[in-house]
Amino acid sequence: MVDLQKLGDREVDERIAVLKEKLGEDLFIPVHHYQRDEIVQFADYTGDSLELSRVSAKTDARFIVFCGVFFMAEIARVLAARDKYVFIPNRDAGCPLADFASLEDVEAVWRVLQEVDAGGYIPVTYANSHAEVKAFCGREGGLVCTSSNVQKIFSWILDRGKRVFFMPDRNLGINTAAAMGMADEFCVVRSEPEKEREEIRGKRIVIWDGFCIVHKRFTMQQVARWRGEDPEVRIVVHPESDPEIVDASDDTGSTSKIKRLVEESPPGSKWVIGTEFNMVQRLKSEHPDKFVEPLEVSVCRNMSSIRRRDLMKTLLAIEDGDYADQVVLPEDQVRDAAAAIEKMLEIS
Ligand code: SF4
Repeated sequence: MVDLQKLGDREVDERIAVLKEKLGEDLFIPVHHYQRDEIVQFADYTGDSLELSRVSAKTDARFIVFCGVFFMAEIARVLAARDKYVFIPNRDAGCPLADFASLEDVEAVWRVLQEVDAGGYIPVTYANSHAEVKAFCGREGGLVCTSSNVQKIFSWILDRGKRVFFMPDRNLGINTAAAMGMADEFCVVRSEPEKEREEIRGKRIVIWDGFCIVHKRFTMQQVARWRGEDPEVRIVVHPESDPEIVDASDDTGSTSKIKRLVEESPPGSKWVIGTEFNMVQRLKSEHPDKFVEPLEVSVCRNMSSIRRRDLMKTLLAIEDGDYADQVVLPEDQVRDAAAAIEKMLEIS
């Protein structure tokens, strides 16, 4: 067995390249935009969670090695055909935002919502949630959304005369309600939904009280500092940022939208970006003819926890026919979560 810690980075990279070559079309490596460059260099596809969901569902490869956080590998497991094997090179790469909503807590709030308006709510969970919460949404006739399609999904629910029960990201929920002109029509459920019954009763959108620590680090002081330094910069932030930051910015959008804005802007454009640092750094190096800086350095430690040696270890295990570390979910969870994800893919 190779001692990976004794190998230099370059040797590890060379060996990964050889393993990739060997596994050929049997291997597919989807990589999220927030991953480190040392992982992105081996990507078969780079994207945000929606794009990666789509490509993982369609790949013919037998082995999907998902480089992102655990909920993304779960999505790949749910969508990929049963004869595919899904791996994540570091199983500890979780998502603190997803951890805000356990199935038990979600079901407790759901019971209160049924007392307020039985059959009146459609649950919708952000992709950044655990598979058990996605499965809950599927069971209850609900669906999944991402930051690219959340507004479309909210409209789809409201157009049916139903109310939205959205989890787990408070800021994405509030920013979406505000963008739809519904700033007065939402409430945030905190720890004791029974006590909030009256407030819930009057609202069309009920939002879970979770947040992403990476996007919560952006502040009005940072926005003011950049505006003061150069009034020509355009500030664009991810909608998981606080509503006041979104309001003070020039634009907001998913990671894919942010990427597109920078790519399509003319040389000399100036961008200050409020999202995960690895992605901003990559945009900066890909566009040397533009000014690209982070609003503040904010790294997702979970995304960054996948390292080249983790990837190599996973590929070696696959080469050896050792699939013990694959991502496995209970069959009923797969079925119900698939229903929620497929409904999202149909609508968006
Ligand atoms: S950036 Fe935030 S939402 Fe995304 S994986 Fe990291 S903690 Fe979770």
